[in-house]
Amino acid sequence: MRLATLDGRVVLRRGDGHVDVATASEGRFGPDPQAVYADWEAFAAWARVHPSEVAHPDATIPTEAEGRWGPPVPGPAQIFAIGLNYRDHVAESGLTVPDEPAVFTKFASSLTGHRARVVLPEGSVDWEAELVVVIGQRAHHVTREAAWSHVAGLTIGQDLSERRLQLAGPAPQFSLAKSYPGFAPIGPELVTVDEFDDPDDLELGCRLESGEVLQKSRTSQMIFDVPELIVRLSAVCPLLPGDLVFTGTPAGVGGARSPRKFLTPGDELLTWVEGIGTLRTSLHAS
Ligand code: ZN
Repeated sequence: MRLATLDGRVVLRRGDGHVDVATASEGRFGPDPQAVYADWEAFAAWARVHPSEVAHPDATIPTEAEGRWGPPVPGPAQIFAIGLNYRDHVAESGLTVPDEPAVFTKFASSLTGHRARVVLPEGSVDWEAELVVVIGQRAHHVTREAAWSHVAGLTIGQDLSERRLQLAGPAPQFSLAKSYPGFAPIGPELVTVDEFDDPDDLELGCRLESGEVLQKSRTSQMIFDVPELIVRLSAVCPLLPGDLVFTGTPAGVGGARSPRKFLTPGDELLTWVEGIGTLRTSLHAS
């Protein structure tokens, strides 16, 4: 199943078209996209068997339609993000492999969707292509074996990061410097776990539309994989339906290059994860 947010309403993607969930379910689910995660099991059971015909008058709006595709998860209670979760990124950062995940948050006001226009604040704004996990079932003290069953699905994220503020002050300010408006684009769709042959091994990366590939790796290269992150996070915080976990980025960030390279106005950043699609973000001057 593939879910998206179109004009603020949750839709099921079907090929090139979509089904408006509130219309097709006669009001039982939706239109608020966040509400389907609170009732995920019932929603997923309904979505598996509901009629497959496209039921919306504008049913074939392409995902490239500008300004209409919001974040598939617009209002999570909690957003977790993991730093230094790929060995090659740890190495390029000049650090040692951590024995505990480095956890921070991106504040929910930084969320945006596919084809977002993001204003670059003053400073040095970097890219971080990431797999984003969406929680489907409350998870507290979850075992490795049970971890994936608490996941609703996966989407693509960019953990945009302003490096100057991130590294200013007596201790790094990950959360604030990664939470300017638009610094957490996710989408274009959420894809449920059953759609992947191996959800622990997906190619991911990002490139500029001009052609330059900035990052390319596989999620199997994570130091703490998705089940391990759910074990470690849920050992402390209950993970709630609709919560997000940004799972970290591989090597290739601009701040670790020589010379350093950052996003500039006019850049079109394309971020992909195998089996999900491509998330497009346009960068603009303030
Ligand atoms: Zn990150």
